[in-house]
Amino acid sequence: KLTGAEALVRWQHPEMGLVPPDSFIPLAEETGLILPIGEWVLRTACNQARKWLDSGRQFGVVAVNISGNQIERGDIVELVRQVLWETHLPAHLLELEITESFIMKHANEALDTLLALRNLGVSLAIDDFGTGYSSLAYLKRLPLDEIKIDRSFVNDIIKDPETVSIVEAIITMASKLGLSVVAEGVENSREFDFLRKRGCHCFQGYMICKPMSD
Ligand code: MN
Repeated sequence: KLTGAEALVRWQHPEMGLVPPDSFIPLAEETGLILPIGEWVLRTACNQARKWLDSGRQFGVVAVNISGNQIERGDIVELVRQVLWETHLPAHLLELEITESFIMKHANEALDTLLALRNLGVSLAIDDFGTGYSSLAYLKRLPLDEIKIDRSFVNDIIKDPETVSIVEAIITMASKLGLSVVAEGVENSREFDFLRKRGCHCFQGYMICKPMSD
């Protein structure tokens, strides 16, 4: 069953062709261009979700990545409220993904923002989980709905027994905390079967579905 779609930005450049996000997002973060880009991505994704909704397509939720800069320097709560209002998208169909490294570094300052976003009715996911320094106290306190296990763990479970233990622990911890778990970067049936047997029920990656335009 389709539980959601994540909006991922690409840059179709007239000479360079398709530019992947890791080539321009860090620069956008540095220059502050991430604010208008992030706003465009959010609005475009919500518009698309509204179109799917109007045409009767079931897509679960649409997930949009939020940069730490948008939380620190922009008024992300007002922006999300505005875009939901403009696009008439029911808030529960929008999920915002925030990286673990940002949340954990700024947990105290970000708490009010996360609560305000949650109050709008959107759900919140912690992205790239396992790569930052997670505080278990924060994990308990922050208003989160979902954990996304970073692809580097998923891709190592076949060859590395220590990664197996870490992934099992993440899945158990998330389910005890009442959070849903998504495994990112699932590329083959061995990874898929492994995760499924250990209680992970949501998957994302090339094996499940390749990126598509809309
Ligand atoms: Mn993401």
